[in-house]
Amino acid sequence: MKLGIQTMPSKEKHSTTARTGGLRSPAKPSRAEPKHTRPVRPVGVRTPIQPLIQTGTIEALAFVKSLIRDVPDFPKPGVVFKDITTLLASPRAFHIVLDGLAERFIGEHIDAIVGIEARGFIFGGALAARLNASFVPARKPGKLPAAVDQVSYETEYSSATLEMHKDSLREEGRVLVVDDVLATGGTAWAAAELVRKQRAYVIGYAFVVELGFLGGRERLLPIRVESILAY
Ligand code: AMP
Repeated sequence: MKLGIQTMPSKEKHSTTARTGGLRSPAKPSRAEPKHTRPVRPVGVRTPIQPLIQTGTIEALAFVKSLIRDVPDFPKPGVVFKDITTLLASPRAFHIVLDGLAERFIGEHIDAIVGIEARGFIFGGALAARLNASFVPARKPGKLPAAVDQVSYETEYSSATLEMHKDSLREEGRVLVVDDVLATGGTAWAAAELVRKQRAYVIGYAFVVELGFLGGRERLLPIRVESILAY
């Protein structure tokens, strides 16, 4: 058997700890060690959201407002459409909106959120997760597969019908109705009627945008109405 001095693997040979036996704090890094010790973030991996703007401030709301796009004459002449897709493109703005709505209803023991198709699904679904509530979709006719309740109503620019699965709410359950925009209030009222058909209680309405000049709030009173931005 050949006896001899065992040599270290080349990597350890150059490391400071190996040289000092770990007893002394390392002096200058050797040439072999990388200068930057921070891990490199792989392309396409996003860090968790750390809002630089606090969510409850006037600045935060001004930031959200700046991201809502006005589209004149859509879907018909005379209507200024409040487009929230530009808001959703900003995770920070979405976060501010959800925080703002969640904190207003956090102590209300909400059993279920009824989100109105389609944009009410976006905010309602995320809010349901935050408030630990069920999410129940109120949909346009013919979309839900099982037996439904149905309510018809008038909107700012058309007449329409909403449907909800029968038995999707607990009797006497506490329900929050969520949509992106409150205009005349017809849509939210129809969703509330669907809730009442199932003998549950609407304890509030939550919107991102309220078009105050169309009087939706008055139509929904005396039930609590909350919105992040009023025009
Ligand atoms: P209303 O029933 O009149 O309160 O209308 C509310 C519904 O219509 C919501 O689902 C909104 O998404 C949509 N809506 C009405 N007016 C507007 C508007 N000016 N901009 C964007 N969405 C609107």
